[in-house]
Amino acid sequence: MGTLAGRPVRRELPQYFYRLPAHSQRTYLASDAIERYSLAPSAAARALAASLEHALEAASLAQVGDATRALAHELCRSFGVAAVPIEVRGARPHNVRGELHGVYYEPERRGAPGRIVLWMKTAKRHDVVKPRTFLRTLLHEFCHHLDYEHYGLPDSFHTVGFYKRESGLMQQLLPVPEA
Ligand SMILES: [Zn+2]
Repeated sequence: MGTLAGRPVRRELPQYFYRLPAHSQRTYLASDAIERYSLAPSAAARALAASLEHALEAASLAQVGDATRALAHELCRSFGVAAVPIEVRGARPHNVRGELHGVYYEPERRGAPGRIVLWMKTAKRHDVVKPRTFLRTLLHEFCHHLDYEHYGLPDSFHTVGFYKRESGLMQQLLPVPEA
């Protein structure tokens, strides 16, 4: 279990925050106050992120699924949290509002694991998603998993703190190469 010793951060809150019940507001502020994880991904996780990049270049659904699960497994291991089942599918579902990149299905009850589904091809052209985009989506959904399993939060919100943690993890796993 992680620590929730983050300090409240002064920034503007979205309108929906004010409509949340008090206990959800507390969860929201706890999430928003933590801007980075106190753990860094292991060297093994960084190597697995590179393997996932290569699997996406090869464009095989089975290989991408295996590489994604291997990386997620290592991330869960290094964070000391329950493994999260992950399924990788082909073309993204889409509607008028856009394409779905990934989904984190919340745990149905406390103590039960959540579940992640990711899509590796664009909706219309069926192009394989760019490796950084795919990894970013995986990490986004993984950060939801960490909210429940690492921080023990009862809910997972898209706070500014959440996005900062996601970006930090991305930068550690697959740094932007220097120009
Ligand atoms: Zn999300």
